[in-house]
Amino acid sequence: MLSFDIRSLESQPAQVEGDLVATDPVWEEADGRPDAAVHVTGRLSAVGANRFYFSGRLEGALATECRRCLKAITVPVADDAHFFFAEAGADEADDPEVFLIDPRDAQLDLRPAVREQWLLAVPSWSLCREDCQGLCPQCGVDRNVTDCGHRPGATTDSRWDALKALKGQPES
Ligand SMILES: [Zn+2]
Ligand SMILES: [Zn+2]
Repeated sequence: MLSFDIRSLESQPAQVEGDLVATDPVWEEADGRPDAAVHVTGRLSAVGANRFYFSGRLEGALATECRRCLKAITVPVADDAHFFFAEAGADEADDPEVFLIDPRDAQLDLRPAVREQWLLAVPSWSLCREDCQGLCPQCGVDRNVTDCGHRPGATTDSRWDALKALKGQPES
């Protein structure tokens, strides 16, 4: 549960413990999503009229692929999170760091802020392991599995053809 009743927040802070699941509609098409969910813990409290502050932590595992061999992998991600929310029209509303809340809303929804923070925290690329040998640029085999005998630098012409051919193959 990442949605909180604004009225009750005004009288007392809320302990936050919830999951933003990978299938949540808040995610957009190109987002690097978690394998299952982003686990959110922390505290959400009012800091003045119609202003709220969240302090806590995000944890999860990014579902992605190895940059070199394209194998599906998960990468642990953990980050501290601090969000400031203010009602649209407040003095702070121009600050890009501030998340706006609609004065008509009865609930404060943490999900958009969690999504943004998660996207900032995930690595832009990952490897299945530090010394991943990647795909052979000439024949496309996974060099972690097979030594095809090709050596880097012999030719460059066929590298993209080989990759394209490999990606086009059905899973066996
Ligand atoms: Zn790899
Ligand atoms: Zn090869």
